Parts: sequence; C-alpha cells; structure tokens
Amino acid sequence: MNDFLDLSLAEARARLAARDISSTELTKAYLSRIEATANLNAYITITHDQAMLGAAQADARLAKGKGGILEGICIAVKDLFCTNGVQTTAASRMLDGFIPTYESTVTSNLWNAGAVLLGKTNLDEFAMGSSNTTSYYGAVESPWRSTDASDKKRVPGGSSGGSAAAVAARSAIAATGTDTGGSIRQPASFSGIVGIKPTYGRCSRWGIIAFASSLDQAGPMARTVEDAAILLQAMASYDPKDSTSAKTTMPNLLVDINKSVKGMSIGVPIEYRIDSLPEETSKIWDHGIDYLKSEGADIVHISLPHTKYALPTYYIIAPAEASSNLARYDGVRYGLRINEQNITDMYTHTRTEGFGEEVKRRILLGTYVLSSGYYDAYYLKAQKMRNLLRHDFNQAFDKVDAILTPTTLSDAFEIGDNKDDPLKMYLQDVFTVPASLVGLPSISVPVTLSKRGLPIGLQVLGRMFDENSVVRVGRTLERTAEFKAMTTLVNGILKDE
Ligand code: GLN
Repeated sequence: MNDFLDLSLAEARARLAARDISSTELTKAYLSRIEATANLNAYITITHDQAMLGAAQADARLAKGKGGILEGICIAVKDLFCTNGVQTTAASRMLDGFIPTYESTVTSNLWNAGAVLLGKTNLDEFAMGSSNTTSYYGAVESPWRSTDASDKKRVPGGSSGGSAAAVAARSAIAATGTDTGGSIRQPASFSGIVGIKPTYGRCSRWGIIAFASSLDQAGPMARTVEDAAILLQAMASYDPKDSTSAKTTMPNLLVDINKSVKGMSIGVPIEYRIDSLPEETSKIWDHGIDYLKSEGADIVHISLPHTKYALPTYYIIAPAEASSNLARYDGVRYGLRINEQNITDMYTHTRTEGFGEEVKRRILLGTYVLSSGYYDAYYLKAQKMRNLLRHDFNQAFDKVDAILTPTTLSDAFEIGDNKDDPLKMYLQDVFTVPASLVGLPSISVPVTLSKRGLPIGLQVLGRMFDENSVVRVGRTLERTAEFKAMTTLVNGILKDE
C-alpha cells in the first residue's frame, strides 16, 4: 500500500495515464493514510465519499484515454477555498457549518483538470498566523520532531499548516495553500516541503475567503518542485470574476524546469543578514549560494534598502484590509448569529463570540490605522513605503534574474511558543512579506535539516510573472541539496503505526 504514497505527483500522473495504477487505488491509499495520521489534526473535513466517487469518474475517463493534467490525482484543499456543497470554515467559529453554494475558481480549475478532493485542511483562523495554533478546530501538529526534545510537538508553520503537515506526512500527494504574507512559504520551510507563492494575480481570488485582498494569492504545496509546478499550472488562470486577475496565460512551467542556472545572475540582498538571523540559518543560506555558484550562476550582492520597513508596512496594510473584509461577518448574511433583543447587541455578541483573539487583534489594529486622524500617519505612509519597496526590487531586477534568501529565521518552534507575544510571532514573516507587498513570485525549497533534525528551506524570488525562473532556480537547489530527509520522516511515522 505504501508504494502509492511514495509516488510523486508527476510519477503518479504517469502511472495513471499508463493505466498501471488506478485513481481508486491511489485515493484509497491516501484516505487510509489520513486516518492513520489523524493525530496531526491536518484536516477539518474529510470528503471520503466524494473522493471515491471522483476517483471512479477519473478512472472511467482514463480508461477512454481521456483526462486533464491532474486526472485521478487526489489532493487536499486549504479550508479557505469555497467548495460547493462541502463545509468551508476558514478555521473560524464564525463559519462553522457554512456550506458554500459555489466553487472557487482555483478549485474549479483543479476539478476540470481531473483532480480528486480528499478533504479540506486546517489553517490559522482566517489565515492570520504563522503557527496554525489559532484554528477553532485546534492546532495542527507537525509530523517532524526534533532530535533533542523529541517529546515536544512542533508547529507545521502557518497559516497553511494543515496543507503542509498533510503533504509532509503523506496524507495528501499535494495541496493548495494561500499566501498573504508567507503562509505557503513559511509552512513549506518548517515542514520540509516545496511551496510556491505565484505572482499576485496569477491565481484567481474568486471564492477564496478574503484576508487582505491586495496581498492574497493562492499557490501549490507539494513534495517536489516539479509537483508544485504541475499543480500551479492547473490552478492558475485569467478570471474575469476577479478584477485583479492577470490577463495572461501561465507559460508551461515544465519547459525550463531542469535547465541549468548557468549564466543566470542570482542576487543576495545584504539587508537580509539581519541581527536576529541565527548563525545556523546564515550558514544554510551560504550553502545555497555555493550550490548555485557551483551550478554556474553568477552571484551578485544587491541592496534592497527599505527591507527593514517591510514588516511594519505589512502589519499596517494586512490588518487594514482584513478589518474591512471581515466587516461582512455581522450575523446577518453569513455564518454564526448570536440572537439578541436588539440588532446592536446581536452584532456585538456575534462578533465577540465568532472571532478568536488573533482575528480580533487584527480587526482592532486595522480599524485603528484606518481611522480619521491616524489614516495619514499609518495607512497612507505604509502605502508609500510599499511603493519604495517595489522600487527597490525593480532596481535589483535590472541586475539579477532571481534573488536567494532564507525563507524563515529558523526551524519550526514548539506548539505554544510565541503564543503570548504577537510581535515575536509577527517577526516570523520578516523574509516572506517583501515579495507579498510587491506581488513577486517566490518559492520555498527544503535544503537541509537543522542541528535539531528539523527541516529548513531557502526562498527564491523572481520578477513579476517570471515563475519559470523561480522554479528553475528552485529545482537546481533541490537537485544540488539532495534533501532526502522526507523519506526518513515518512518511514519513521510508518514504523510508529
Ligand atoms: N503570518 C502572516 C500573518 O499572520 C501571513 C499570513 C498569511 O500569509 N496568510 O499575517
């Protein structure tokens, strides 16, 4: 049975097309794996019957020699994508039991490509967080344990922590995530998998529960760069229903994926060597630089002078947009309603009980920075800073083809760490928010294990709409780093069962 779980998405796709395996067998193997790893709490909803039905339909199409680019591939979907007839919660009490009557564009694209839904994965409430500990349905546990304190449970990262844990523990072949300030890349780094945040506008936001609309972007999470590229190819499309959707077609991401980086210029930004960067992460970054150099890339030291303002800028803009987006949860039209004698009390109690602490903090922060008297001092200033950050990257990309940085400050922390210190939690996003503010495509690729035996990834950023260079450099890192720890992890879990 485990043979099925060992297949990459690309391999499974080839074997399905050759009728060597069936989607029914593959889906069954994954559904029993989901049961066996239920302790991770990676899934909020498991769509067992729908999965088996979808697999049978895919098998029928494959038997006729038909099918899309994901025909018969069973995947997991972050519970932030609306799925027709399937509970969609954003991991919030506010939407507990909410069943959409429509399908998000990204998931429609996946089903049109032949994919099969295994279930909806856990996340930080409304995708706000870096640890997947704020979910109404409980924290997600990483399948990884450190060698020095193996009794301690680690976070998978967040907010797409359920998707990351599922892919790492092989309870999904791949999964969708969303990334507003790092929620695909940071959990990918913590969980030893690959995650891509595409260029803003590549994947439609229609039907994805909104957090911060000028930053939100969907993307793939998978075990290899190639698998992530295949999934992204199916997710991305121009969509007239999303006014910020880019009117371009995604070029074939597999064309240049194995091409050498010889002759490419790779930028290394000096400002990312921040004081709080642990020596270990700094060294891992240096190894990444060496890998690319040994493959023939030119390494160029670049400056992104406004880097230190990116995090505060993000934590003004993202809460501002969130406070406005979340105003819709008022007990009238969506989800939870706490009945009261008058409408003001109904609003108050619904929002007080429906939202968790972190979401309330963001709404308060956002309302504050948008309020009259503070708007100019905070929100407007943050918008100006966003332009300066864009300018920094434009200048850098005149000189280089891609940029290499760490994804995270360190390896995964323990569940419960940083809980009472929101600022420390926000610091987790220091390397991921710049690409989000500017809209650039970026990838996190696992490269090694830390001294504590936990995975760490490196991040590659590319020019707007140049996902091809991002996956090409990412694939080179993957090949040269030879990150094989995932096999050890999975064998470890399987042995424990
Ligand atoms: N950790 C960041 C935050 O809490 C990013 C979240 C995200 O990308 N959805 O806002």
